[in-house]
Amino acid sequence: MTEITKSKIENSELSTKELIAHFREKCKICGHHRIMHDENGKCEGVMNKPCNSGCDLFSSE
Ligand SMILES: [Zn+2]
Ligand SMILES: [Zn+2]
Repeated sequence: MTEITKSKIENSELSTKELIAHFREKCKICGHHRIMHDENGKCEGVMNKPCNSGCDLFSSE
């Protein structure tokens, strides 16, 4: 993590814990965590495995 990113997080209202909890939310459509989805909500899959659900919009459980 760069110092800039770190200071942005420290200056935001979110704690690191809340941020992590946010990104660990599971997707209702494909079951992957939010972190696996890109900025548009499309799931990019885990590791080298593409997402087979064709999920293109993250939806929290
Ligand atoms: Zn997925
Ligand atoms: Zn998904």
